[in-house]
Amino acid sequence: MSPLSGQAVGSLVIEPIIDGVAHETAREILVRPGHEGDPWLAHQDILDQHGRLEFTMGGYLVRTGDRKVLVDAGVGTIDNGKYQGGAMLESLAAVGVGAEDITDVLFTHLHFDHVGWATAKGEIVFPNATYRCHAADWAHFIEAPDAAPGGIRKLSPIAERLELFDTDHLLAPGLSVRHAPGHTPGSIIVVVSDGDERAMLIGDVAHCPAELSEDDWEAMFDVDRTMARRTREALARELEGSDIPVAAAHFPGLAFGRILAGRGRRYWTYDLSGRDA
Ligand SMILES: [Zn+2]
Repeated sequence: MSPLSGQAVGSLVIEPIIDGVAHETAREILVRPGHEGDPWLAHQDILDQHGRLEFTMGGYLVRTGDRKVLVDAGVGTIDNGKYQGGAMLESLAAVGVGAEDITDVLFTHLHFDHVGWATAKGEIVFPNATYRCHAADWAHFIEAPDAAPGGIRKLSPIAERLELFDTDHLLAPGLSVRHAPGHTPGSIIVVVSDGDERAMLIGDVAHCPAELSEDDWEAMFDVDRTMARRTREALARELEGSDIPVAAAHFPGLAFGRILAGRGRRYWTYDLSGRDA
């Protein structure tokens, strides 16, 4: 394990596990209804020359006690010009972890870019893992009459290894789950803690830093945009000015950052050294 690659939380370490990369045109997927003008003019620094956001695909590994918890399972072996994955097992091997070592696969939600390595060709990829997600997402993405066949095909094989939950709880020593609905009905945040230290994995509560520094953003991917906004804005207010390292599911490089408070607004920074703006 390379200590430089992970985020320390007391004696625990959260390691980003990269699977691949995706690009989405920012103005097509994130809007600020009710605001005059182009909201992206203030955020050119996070767009490429084509106006696209880069989304890293992957997950996070948390080793705690005798558990090795993989939070999200990447996008899988896909390359469709927009989404490209396939490196997750190599990235795990690079930190000394094989697929058979994973004890828990915890999904922040069940969108395709988080369950890519749940199964491959109908076979379970992590043979010794218990798969876990919020019951509201299993109901929405698998059991609902209008559930997409692709998701059902991908996830049906894990049913016998699945433990659903519908309450916030401590899932493993130092690792707890908190319901954060809106992006999907069963979206969760993962809180990792040891002693006084804490870090948060916020899944797709936000897709890019702009959504954490300003209110009123809406994402096309959000199943319930109003609820997603409420969840995102409450979380941003909770975290602003704190020293809590935060990682979203797709920020570039799966890097941790934090939310600063200053002059009537919030700022996202990847600088974790603790000085305010
Ligand atoms: Zn996602």
